[in-house]
Amino acid sequence: MTTATHPYDALMDITARPKAVFVRGAGSYLWDDNRKRYLDFVQGWAVNCLGHSPPVIADALSAQAKRLLTPSPAFYNEPSLKLAQALVENSAFDQVFFANSGAEANEGAIKLARKYGSLHKGGAFEIISFEGGFHGRTLATMSASGKKAFAPLFEPKVAGFKKAKLNDIASVEKLINDNTVAVMLEPIQGESGVWPATDQFLQQLRALTEAHGLLLIFDEIQTGMGRTGKLFHYEHTGIAPDIMTLGKGIGGGVPLAALLATERASCFEHGDQGGTFNGNPIMCAAGLAVLEEIKKPDFLKAVTETGLLLESELQKVSARHGLGGVRGRGLLLALDLKLPIAPSIVAQAFEAGVLLNAPQLDTLRFMPALNVTKAEIAEMIDCLDGILTKAGAARRVA
Ligand SMILES: *Cc1c(COP(=O)(O)O)cnc(C)c1O
Repeated sequence: MTTATHPYDALMDITARPKAVFVRGAGSYLWDDNRKRYLDFVQGWAVNCLGHSPPVIADALSAQAKRLLTPSPAFYNEPSLKLAQALVENSAFDQVFFANSGAEANEGAIKLARKYGSLHKGGAFEIISFEGGFHGRTLATMSASGKKAFAPLFEPKVAGFKKAKLNDIASVEKLINDNTVAVMLEPIQGESGVWPATDQFLQQLRALTEAHGLLLIFDEIQTGMGRTGKLFHYEHTGIAPDIMTLGKGIGGGVPLAALLATERASCFEHGDQGGTFNGNPIMCAAGLAVLEEIKKPDFLKAVTETGLLLESELQKVSARHGLGGVRGRGLLLALDLKLPIAPSIVAQAFEAGVLLNAPQLDTLRFMPALNVTKAEIAEMIDCLDGILTKAGAARRVA
């Protein structure tokens, strides 16, 4: 054993992190070990949908922790039965498999599609996914992703993924052959910078997949659980997929994800799927608390209203500083800066005590808590405005 010279050094260095150590969170605010306060418009990457450490989740976790941590994945437990039932009642799906991360839920969706192909489509296994898509960091989900930076990594990739272009139905149709079993996409591409599939494109995909007997898989890990103003994004479109994955917001801050399928698509047999912590009571208790909050009357209406407010405030910022458009839906929004200054803005905002995210060099992404207040939006906009004013002045001097 070597001794790490600093506690930071004992963690694998997998991404550039600021040196602050975060010790406490409440609602839209986070505090570091120097008692500096931050207004958080990242929320663990759209994870803390009810904000930091909401009492309803803390209470659900502690009550369940005192009652039962886990019996065994091969036994039933109450929270997982209740959460599965609640998800089924509130969606177009009939059965649920719980996972511990979004990538694992997507891995399950890929396996389920291949199983369907082996049972019903003569062994068809190919899945059409999309350029710019992001589905996770396991080997299969990296292979399904269309993120350019992933292309050279960890070769050889898992075979059987072909990439079409978002909002281009002909590019999908061209890739369909006898081996095709499914089409898989995020209704709004999150990690690549909040690029929405149009409702019309999603409807075209539904018609196309039906015509060819293919499964349609929505990765709603970022868009689900109220993020876009509906419980699930597909509800905006008038169509529903056969398989849907959830992650991020479903646990409200704890590791929980889910794979949902219609009766027709739900074809796993004993031995096909499982995992030690899948559907464990603790995480499912948190998921139930989250779903109960989102289902309260007017919660989603408020998300829509707050989303429209944030959108119009970002549009005003854009007009004041000569920037590009605002993309997205509900409280998953992006501002096009037209210049590769997003990382510098994120760094300056961090200094000023506001957490923002730059999914691309020219794009800022906003994914606050779903219960973010108007005052918190105003505080973030003030900070962003100030930074952009300084950046504009610096450009005019240069
Ligand atoms: C975050 C994300 C994933 C991966 O989820 P993890 O919990 O990080 O494995 C997959 N798909 C989408 C759309 C995501 O936003």
